[in-house]
Amino acid sequence: MAIERTLSIIKPDAVAKNVIGKIYSRFESNGLKIVAAKLAWLSPQEAGAFYAVHKERPFFNDLVSFMISGPVMIQVLEGEGAIAKNRELMGATDPKKAEPGTIRADFAESIDANAVHGSDGEDTAKVEIAFFFPAMSVYAGR
Ligand code: ATP
Ligand code: MG
Repeated sequence: MAIERTLSIIKPDAVAKNVIGKIYSRFESNGLKIVAAKLAWLSPQEAGAFYAVHKERPFFNDLVSFMISGPVMIQVLEGEGAIAKNRELMGATDPKKAEPGTIRADFAESIDANAVHGSDGEDTAKVEIAFFFPAMSVYAGR
């Protein structure tokens, strides 16, 4: 499998619970390397633009309100099959349906406050990484 990069966001609920380190250790112990990272408090415009694919969905306004309710931790993860691997570590969108041992099963409360975001494919990963990080901010090795 190819080395990929994916965008991950630790959402306001998990940042407020002080579990950034615990979530990072799941990434690291499963072969994902953090190659860019920043803490940010998104504006409504930024959160709306990031989740623009969902703008026609009934939950869009709640999703944006939630994503701006506190700071988020945004990172680029790199590793073998990183996109699918991160989705597997995250678990299902609804934490009640997430496999035991996944990030959402362990740290999330509800489908709204579900602890993490992860890109869902190669194309979205590229667009989402570029949305938050200019190329020079992503560690590319020496
Ligand atoms: P994310 O994009 O945040 O990684 P996801 O890919 O698992 O999550 P999406 O279908 O992309 O799920 O939905 C984006 C976000 O919108 C979800 O994380 C969730 O918080 C919210 N959401 C999705 N479906 C619903 C729903 N039926 N009701 C309420 N909120 C929802
Ligand atoms: Mg999604």
